[in-house]
Amino acid sequence: MMKNNKQILLVALGGNALIRKGQKGTVDEQFENLTNPVRQIAKLTKTYRIIITHGNGPQVGNLMLKQESCDAVPKLPLEILVAQTQGQIGYMIESTLDTELMHLGNDTEHYFVSLLSYVVVDKNDPAFLNPSKPVGPVFTKEKAQTLPYPTKKTAKGYRRVVASPLPVTIVEKREIKKLMDMNFIVICCGGGGIPVIREGRSFSGVDAVIDKDLASARLAEEVDVDIFLIATDVQGVALNYGKKNQEFLRSLTTRQATRFLAQGHFPPGSMGPKIEAAVQFVRKTGKRAVIASIEDIESAVEGTSGTEIVN
Ligand code: ADP
Ligand code: MG
Repeated sequence: MMKNNKQILLVALGGNALIRKGQKGTVDEQFENLTNPVRQIAKLTKTYRIIITHGNGPQVGNLMLKQESCDAVPKLPLEILVAQTQGQIGYMIESTLDTELMHLGNDTEHYFVSLLSYVVVDKNDPAFLNPSKPVGPVFTKEKAQTLPYPTKKTAKGYRRVVASPLPVTIVEKREIKKLMDMNFIVICCGGGGIPVIREGRSFSGVDAVIDKDLASARLAEEVDVDIFLIATDVQGVALNYGKKNQEFLRSLTTRQATRFLAQGHFPPGSMGPKIEAAVQFVRKTGKRAVIASIEDIESAVEGTSGTEIVN
């Protein structure tokens, strides 16, 4: 096997890397949105071995809406929809990366692959008792009552809720390690991974979604990542976000982060899981975790933008 001493960088791309808030999400928009972050990642391949993980919220939401709008074909469970989005987004990232590497003249040195990724969850995870993660389209109250799954009233209207259990382990971690050793760029754990339960010697998919930041942190630990970068649509982590006294931070310790989390500065479903993911990774490994804008991937890796979480 080739010897490889380059550090490993994991970049977790937010769902907004493909569909920005307020956009329709046409395929042209999605490719356009990917260009800037992927160009920066392509440049970083000179210095780092790279893993890319990504969200799938808007894409899986669209697939769910399509299912709701059509009775002519059988409906598919959520885990199959997650697998579909890993394929579609993996393809979009790969083809953009190919173009950007060619522009850099780097295309012959780099191999890449998108990997369907299973993530094991615990069937006794308390999240299964209280499905609370809203997914998919908005329904009227009347329609919601006719649906075969639990729904919840959200700010937008009634939405389906599913369990969001914690990631236990990434099933393909050995494959990913080998691919890293061979200098592959690996795109994996899309949408937090396909959630599976392991019973005895068999796996079965479950109707749940895993948070992509927590799944990325688990993967980062399991494959010995050196830098864990969570790339999103804000410049970093703020206190009093959205208020008059909002203050973006350049760094915070894991203790401060946990305290601010408990004080409500980082809501569940957006900044909360990113903070938990970064804290978990830094505490377990002592390596670098940064939360930054997808526009600033290169400078965040250099340490000149974003928010660094330190021990
Ligand atoms: P992603 O698709 O990248 O996972 P999310 O929408 O889940 O993005 O999380 C990023 C969002 O978190 C930002 O757009 C911002 O509106 C929100 N947010 C909430 N609290 C904070 C905070 N304290 N600091 C920064 N952003 C925050
Ligand atoms: Mg998110």
